Amino acid sequence: MKYIKLKNGPIEENSFIVWNEKSHEGGIIDPGFTELNEYDKYLKENNIIIKYIINTHGHWDHIKNNKIVKNAYGAKLLIHEADAEYLINPQLNLSYYYDKEIENTTADVLLKDNDEISLGDEKLKVMHTPGHTLGSIILYNDSLAFTGDTLFFGSVGRCDLPNSDKEIMVQTIEKFKKLLPKDALILPGHGNIESKFSEQLEINPFLTGKMKPK
Ligand SMILES: [Zn+2]
Ligand SMILES: [Zn+2]
Repeated sequence: MKYIKLKNGPIEENSFIVWNEKSHEGGIIDPGFTELNEYDKYLKENNIIIKYIINTHGHWDHIKNNKIVKNAYGAKLLIHEADAEYLINPQLNLSYYYDKEIENTTADVLLKDNDEISLGDEKLKVMHTPGHTLGSIILYNDSLAFTGDTLFFGSVGRCDLPNSDKEIMVQTIEKFKKLLPKDALILPGHGNIESKFSEQLEINPFLTGKMKPK
């Protein structure tokens, strides 16, 4: 599976294009601030047909351009069932506080733990990782892990927002420590440093147990 990280915006939020090189089927992960012409450029260059838009969770900085991208490519919008409400609730998705301009759109498919998203003969697995939000997910295969706001370089997502839960985040950390492949490249929802999961297991204080989610 191939991926491109889009040039990121005001809060170093990351959007990605993923695709199957043989079938040209692709998905867009977290269309936050990325403009349509940025996506267009890469989609044309690589001959990609967007089938899915996938939100790692429902916060405004990850869903802001859902509607624009969905209308442009006619793709299905996917989010974990526990975050579906975020798409239409400005207090939950935080746009009420940060950005009153965002346009709501509902999901086409609600995801559950262990679901698989197919792009041709390749798959991304859905791991439900509640804590930062109730319906946060990590999308992963053997070589890539899109961790949203659950796992960052050297940190984990904050748990002081509406519907966040520190105790559940502790369980989520144990869960992804067991399930994520050591060789997977960690591609978080914010920040520009890339690392393998094996490196995070050694240097991330929230994974080594030196720090607790807050
Ligand atoms: Zn978030
Ligand atoms: Zn975020």
